Amino acid sequence: MASPPVVRFAPSPTGYLHIGGARTALYNWLYARGRGGRFVLRIEDSDQERSTPESEVAIFEGLRWLGLDWDEGPDVGGPHGPYRQSERLERYRQAADRLIAERKAYRCSCTAEDLARMRSASPDPRAFRYPGVCRDRAVPADVRHVVRFVMPATGTTGWDDLVKGRIEVANETLQDEVILRPNGLPLYNFGAVVDDVDMEIDHVIRGDDHVVNTPRQIQMFRALGRPEPRFAHLPMILGEDKKKLSKRTGTVSVLQYRDDGYLPHALVNFLARIGWSHGDQEIFTLGELVAKFDFDAVSASGGVWNAKKLDWLSSHWIRQTPVPGLADLVLPFLGSLGVADCPRERLEAAVALQRERAKTLKELASGIAFYFQRPLVLEAKAAEKTLDADALARVEALAQSLELVAPFDPGPIEAAVAEFLRSRGLELKAVAQAARVALTGRTQSPGLYDVMSVLGRDGTLARLRGARTAPRG
Ligand code: GLU
Repeated sequence: MASPPVVRFAPSPTGYLHIGGARTALYNWLYARGRGGRFVLRIEDSDQERSTPESEVAIFEGLRWLGLDWDEGPDVGGPHGPYRQSERLERYRQAADRLIAERKAYRCSCTAEDLARMRSASPDPRAFRYPGVCRDRAVPADVRHVVRFVMPATGTTGWDDLVKGRIEVANETLQDEVILRPNGLPLYNFGAVVDDVDMEIDHVIRGDDHVVNTPRQIQMFRALGRPEPRFAHLPMILGEDKKKLSKRTGTVSVLQYRDDGYLPHALVNFLARIGWSHGDQEIFTLGELVAKFDFDAVSASGGVWNAKKLDWLSSHWIRQTPVPGLADLVLPFLGSLGVADCPRERLEAAVALQRERAKTLKELASGIAFYFQRPLVLEAKAAEKTLDADALARVEALAQSLELVAPFDPGPIEAAVAEFLRSRGLELKAVAQAARVALTGRTQSPGLYDVMSVLGRDGTLARLRGARTAPRG
């Protein structure tokens, strides 16, 4: 049997965790977790100008929020560390020196001007490839130089991609590329390969924007005397306009979804399905995803973002979340609406009522905030329309008739309201909307008796009686 896979997610810390990166991380994680493998997190910060510690923290935070825990990484360590490229420069130097000694790489002292001259003198400057001028020059180590890799000039390099099938590239399209800069920092291809070798990565799962790099990396694995890993290149996520998903077409930062009140599992479920399928099943628990995920069902062409589906999954997973847990999750969102004091029992009752109609925790919070607002501010327009002098008098009388209802539950409340209406010869509509505005501040709300029962007797009576003087805004 094949040994458990070792995979890695290797973000460059140059921004927030992007939705596309999160899906790559998720597929790596699912593949490892479904097979008893290891998931390595490696920070590719060799581009020192663009990498920031804040971005690294944001990536950790995004992955943690999604529940994608890693077995080895810059913060948790592991047997193959360090896991930050900026801390591994010695390793790249050693590997490059070895390749130089074996004549698989060489020092090159060509300057930018030299290269520009060669380029403009070549028959097709746009297709210019470095012609290996320094290959046999034995440039001394103390001359300012880069290190270049010796690429084969003939033949092909190919691999069986787990998603895209067989890919072959003519070696004449490759060139002796730079692997180490004069300052000792590795170029992406070389840093990634040395790391993948050291960290014993046997499955490289990443975005298909890296397909162009793969033949070059394969040549580097071979030069370092290591078998290349299996590769799985994931098609990119397209926006609803079928173009590359971007900030312009929607939210692309994972943490923004958290702040917008999506449940992490809704996003996980959604991301898993962009580009992967299991029959026509849409809803998956985490356990199902771990058990069912495999590359044979990953589509080779781009998956399309579908905001409606995300909202649909999000309301599904909100309904599936047990009320006490949901109440905990909604508290910070209530807090940001200025609601600080929510008696637990009432909070859970409100959540239970509203859970069915909220797509996000944020919506849930704004749907139940009115229960806890003190004082309740009535929507000015609604109050003006429904709370004239007669209506206020009826609402106050209604309060009177609810004083003795027990228990203060929807059934007995409904019966008391019916009795009140009968004794006064009124129809429900003569009080319902006015009572609703007095109790909730607006014209739309869950069922009136449910609202009263969540508010409790004291809360209900206070709001019905206080409508006359309640602030309006
Ligand atoms: N740092 C690269 C990126 O963020 C990683 C590519 C790879 O997985 O090899 O695109």
